[in-house]
Amino acid sequence: MNRRKFLQQSSLSAAVLSVTPSAFASENKPASFTIGFLSDVHVKPTETAEAGMRKAYRHVNGLKPSVDFIINGGDAIMDALNASKEKVQKQWDVWNKVLTDENKLPIYHCIGNHDAWGWQMTDVEVKNDPLYDKKWVLQQHNMKERFYSFAHKNWKFIVLDSAQENNGGYIARIDEPQFAWLENELKQTDAAQHICIVSHIPIVSFCSAVFYDKNEPNGDWKISRALLHVDSRRLTDLFKNHQSIRCCLSGHIHMQDMVEYRGINYYCNGAVSGDWWNGPYKGFEPSYALFEFDSDGKVTRTMMNYGNI
Ligand SMILES: [Zn+2]
Repeated sequence: MNRRKFLQQSSLSAAVLSVTPSAFASENKPASFTIGFLSDVHVKPTETAEAGMRKAYRHVNGLKPSVDFIINGGDAIMDALNASKEKVQKQWDVWNKVLTDENKLPIYHCIGNHDAWGWQMTDVEVKNDPLYDKKWVLQQHNMKERFYSFAHKNWKFIVLDSAQENNGGYIARIDEPQFAWLENELKQTDAAQHICIVSHIPIVSFCSAVFYDKNEPNGDWKISRALLHVDSRRLTDLFKNHQSIRCCLSGHIHMQDMVEYRGINYYCNGAVSGDWWNGPYKGFEPSYALFEFDSDGKVTRTMMNYGNI
């Protein structure tokens, strides 16, 4: 699609959006609020990827003032795991350019596996580079720590760092210092606050089980350590002791589900890039999620197939 056509279609989308969708209208519920959860943008220096990211961010910004802030669910760029410094810089350049142009909402970032630099590279120079690992993504997102929390109205958001380097690849879990921090963070949370936990990779998800098209030859399910937190038991055991946790939000799988487990709703929220910008992935349109958080702890999700609106 050329740029002129894209801009024409975008202004059409903005016109359609001037009618507030009832699913997230919240005027008569004081203290409730709505956020945009945009995950797996996987932007790269191509016309399709840049235009897609522009459309998604323009779309959610068109919903102002109904949206309080955005959470970037991770995998902002196409891939830094196995890409030269020059290529990674070009991807971050597009990310920053589009955000500067299109986003006026506050944004909180979660780190995705593809945002970490050099894990799949053997080059000693890369490993010794000051930007190796997550230092580059922290710098680009202006983040002080890999994991952190923030409060909004009577909610607390805890943002985790899901992907850890693992023998030239990655594994989905939180490391020991992060677990200790999380334990303490949950303990310290005011009883009046509801909690939402964000992780790039799902902690509980059915999408992770159906990501591969087939089971093992003997019928066993096949779930990669890269697709579902391998410390799910430990995390859900910890969550059991904290009744204020209402929901967990993730991306990574490019598919959508909602699983309720032990009183917590786990939402896997598709991908802005869909099938990495080649349309829908396994039937899931390129999308982002709108979440409405009520003051009483209720959470409502509306998926936004921004490409078709
Ligand atoms: Zn990912």
